[in-house]
Amino acid sequence: MRLLLWDIDGTLLYSGGVAGEAMRAAMTTLFGQPSSNDRREYAGKTDQQIIIETNPHLTPQYIADQLDAFATAYMAELAERRAEMASRGRVLAGVPAALAYYQQRADVRQSVLTGNMQAVAAMKLELTNLSPYIDMSVGAYGSDHAKRVELPRYAIERMHAHTPHRITGADIVIIGDTPNDIACGKAHGARTVAVATGPFSVADLAAHAPDAVLPDLSDLDAVIAAIG
Ligand SMILES: [Mg+2]
Repeated sequence: MRLLLWDIDGTLLYSGGVAGEAMRAAMTTLFGQPSSNDRREYAGKTDQQIIIETNPHLTPQYIADQLDAFATAYMAELAERRAEMASRGRVLAGVPAALAYYQQRADVRQSVLTGNMQAVAAMKLELTNLSPYIDMSVGAYGSDHAKRVELPRYAIERMHAHTPHRITGADIVIIGDTPNDIACGKAHGARTVAVATGPFSVADLAAHAPDAVLPDLSDLDAVIAAIG
């Protein structure tokens, strides 16, 4: 059994900046200041890590203790922007076909590995109609740990807890749009597939030596070959 772990932002969907606006509003409410508006600066980082870096005067423990309240505020901000997300956001090219293909493969489970907190990840997938393809119970989220590189362990543990399948990092494929996604997969011996639909180009991503790089997910045969 293989576990495919898709990144969300810049890989499956682009929120049109709406999610970033919602997150900055929630950060201002909870912690007093918003994060930077630069997509590259926090691409591939977990929400927790972004909050920690934006608020060096707060302890990571304080931030961790506030995470549930932050998630609630973030969800409320996103819900208020539901219509805007629908008009400005989009599912990236080829994504529904690729997800549908792997959903019917008996030898594959697919979920997400994302810096988003679990509740926020669920909401983004729901707003873009991608929820039916994703088994959230075996994913890994920014609410699990501040460092993305730690997240594959949570997905492996959840596979063991929720399915009869015992897997290791070598059974995982990480698909993402940033150098942080590649580094996170490599640290666990996972296969890494980079896709240049976020803030990084094919050349930027290739410099980090993923197992495969794609310009986007629009060519299903190329996606299948890259995932291996
Ligand atoms: Mg991403």
